[in-house]
Amino acid sequence: MPELPEVEGVVRMLKPVVEHKTIQRVIVSPVIYTSKEAGKEAIIKGQTPEQFIAAVQGMTIERIERHAKYIFFTMLKNGEQQLLVNHLGMSGAWFHVAHPDDVTEGKFHKHMHVMWQLADDEWLIYADIRRFGEMRLLHDIADYPPLLAMAPEPFDARASDYFLEKCAQRKYNNKAIKAVIMDGQVVSGCGNIYATEALFRTRIHPGRKVSLIEGEQLRTLFQEIVTVLTESIAFGGSSISDYRNINGEAGSMQHHLQMYGMKKCPMCHTNTEQQIIAGRNSFYCPNCQH
Ligand SMILES: [Zn+2]
Repeated sequence: MPELPEVEGVVRMLKPVVEHKTIQRVIVSPVIYTSKEAGKEAIIKGQTPEQFIAAVQGMTIERIERHAKYIFFTMLKNGEQQLLVNHLGMSGAWFHVAHPDDVTEGKFHKHMHVMWQLADDEWLIYADIRRFGEMRLLHDIADYPPLLAMAPEPFDARASDYFLEKCAQRKYNNKAIKAVIMDGQVVSGCGNIYATEALFRTRIHPGRKVSLIEGEQLRTLFQEIVTVLTESIAFGGSSISDYRNINGEAGSMQHHLQMYGMKKCPMCHTNTEQQIIAGRNSFYCPNCQH
């Protein structure tokens, strides 16, 4: 699943190539139409595919930014600004190519769901193998309340204090620390991989109750989350399963992980253990993490 560093990688690559370009033509895959007819909303949310096509065609991509694990496209059409909010779900990927046939990786090629033609020989294509990704066209951020509840960006100066304040609240105090750092209302953009790594580096057991961790240790944990995310951005993200950047390339952070997916602890060589926390499998070292 793409996490913050992977989404950041996509945004950094998209910015220089598609900002200020106009979407001349929109193609939506047959699967999206069938899903809508079946009463579901694969990928395109809150609109029919026809409405989405009519709205997006002719829009100019003014700006692309990342907020937590969302990609915000600020769009302009006929003097009106709208926000297209995209979440990559489990396996979403953007490809910037001269022609749709240039998306050569078979598993993505078969799952190209939203295609924007920017010029005769320029396409921006959203492919999504498992179709858990989302696109929402909003007049205002308030039209989609989950966006308002997001914690500040982890790199913001106030994010650490915000995290400590949340940890002190009764709502989070009694929960396992891993469940709390993976909650987007407490820490923005820290998913399973990076939560696992930050907890290992600070020697905290993922199942430990927040109330049993001292404030200073929580602050260190938050700093470690920021460090792990920063390192991963530098390595182009982790490609554990299907993550690809806009040129179809994988990241390399998976080679630098110390605990996620490991059989043995790299520090003490004890066999790692796993526990399900907040529905996600959590690796930890029973010897090093308490
Ligand atoms: Zn260990």
